[in-house]
Amino acid sequence: MDDRAGRAAIVAAGARLGRRGLISAGEGNLSVRLDAGMLLVTPSGRRKDELAPAELVLVDLGSGAALGAAAARPTSDLAIHLAVHRARPDIAAVAHAHLPASMALTLAGEVPDPAALPETALLLPRLPFLELGVPGSDELAGRVAAALTEPPDPLATAVLLERHGAIAVASDPAGAVDRLELVEVLCRTWLDAMLVRAARGAEGPPRT
Ligand SMILES: [Zn+2]
Repeated sequence: MDDRAGRAAIVAAGARLGRRGLISAGEGNLSVRLDAGMLLVTPSGRRKDELAPAELVLVDLGSGAALGAAAARPTSDLAIHLAVHRARPDIAAVAHAHLPASMALTLAGEVPDPAALPETALLLPRLPFLELGVPGSDELAGRVAAALTEPPDPLATAVLLERHGAIAVASDPAGAVDRLELVEVLCRTWLDAMLVRAARGAEGPPRT
């Protein structure tokens, strides 16, 4: 993907995350790998549903150094984007959002099973769960990259983070946002099923 197409794709994907209610305030971040070993990433501290193409930050995938205007500060989760792009040359985009239902479920100690719904069983068959890590840390970035490269094939295309939403990968930003939406649908459905069961006096997670 060239620079111009990458900027347009990230701006559109950020706007969709906002329309779907999957990000609030300055939450979430996106990246896309460009042809020349460079990444385009979202800036820190800005709404991702109101980005202008020129605000995106160019980062050298090898060194991790931000290029261009000195004022441009890349996402605080840059370590995750670098680690995942280095580990998964087969994908070109990474998206992260604090998916509300996923945070509620994992805060309550619940981990949903993607096999419970036909759609997620087909399109998101593996959803590794990662225990809480320090946001922005190399430690968390390393665990995310490891979960996305752990055999067998096909490799996972999304990971669920304890109390911190999810991270998804794809060949372009729109595809990564699609996968985040599926994670949220799974979590919201799981949560609703738990509430209905609780209202009936049943205990435990939904029957699958
Ligand atoms: Zn985050």
